[in-house]
Amino acid sequence: MSVKQWKQVITISVILIIVLLLILTIFFALRVHNYQKDVESGKLVNLAQFGELDAKELSGLFKYLGSVEADSNLEYQTLFPDLYIDNDFNFIPTDEKIAYLTFDDGPNADNTPVVLDTLKKYNVKATFFVVYQDTPTANALYKRIVDEGHTIAVHTASHEYTKIYESVESYLTDFEKMASHIEAVTGTKPEIFRFPGGSINSYNAGIYREIIAEMTRRGYVYYDWNVSSGDAASGYISRTRIANNVLNGSASQDDAIVLMHDGPGHGETAAALPQIIEGLKKQGYIFQGLDNTVTPWCFGY
Ligand code: ZN
Repeated sequence: MSVKQWKQVITISVILIIVLLLILTIFFALRVHNYQKDVESGKLVNLAQFGELDAKELSGLFKYLGSVEADSNLEYQTLFPDLYIDNDFNFIPTDEKIAYLTFDDGPNADNTPVVLDTLKKYNVKATFFVVYQDTPTANALYKRIVDEGHTIAVHTASHEYTKIYESVESYLTDFEKMASHIEAVTGTKPEIFRFPGGSINSYNAGIYREIIAEMTRRGYVYYDWNVSSGDAASGYISRTRIANNVLNGSASQDDAIVLMHDGPGHGETAAALPQIIEGLKKQGYIFQGLDNTVTPWCFGY
């Protein structure tokens, strides 16, 4: 080709690249825009669909969502004026392999102390998505979770699916009961939560979009999981099987948010924990509690 032809090829290539970048920019801007509109109308938030956004873009989006004012046309948005987190939303990307061990449905007098002892022995921080109990034993365990440097987070007060997923108001009422109890007992205001049954389940099918939109507007972040221990399946599940489920699941991940339970009947999970921690270490993982620097892991819909 002549010099002139080369110049033409280069010019056309540059123009094509610019047009492509422009299209991509507009595409992402429109998606963000629609997302914001949907949150304002209390309609839709699908955090998983923003998997393509990097941590900084996602933080900015969440900051915006957390600044949307309550709309008096949506009565639930005006309920519980203290149920807000002044969240700085600063998701920080990391190259390290991090395992976030999470325990749902506790505290439990038999299992939670065993879990806490093991975590202490290995110097591992984890996250507890707790349920409501106002007893001296439970209150001492909520406190111990916080005192030992773990993340305490809201699961639900009642864990009764039909009740909490009846309406956004019901969900907020249940959530407020748990969040204010944690704060009263431990002095820590919880900032993150996990939906009973996961963010999408057969009980909340008609309503989860509105609940997610409202909770995000109030500054809270939720976490589903990408590794399941399978410890909530029906029937007896041995500690070996629980540990194998976790280690098989985590082997293919870069970051592992591991679902486990420390509620009643989960003695085998507590017993499996040393094997799980040692196995994850061998896979190259380090351990952290969840906090608002961790990019949310959410089921897509
Ligand atoms: Zn649960």
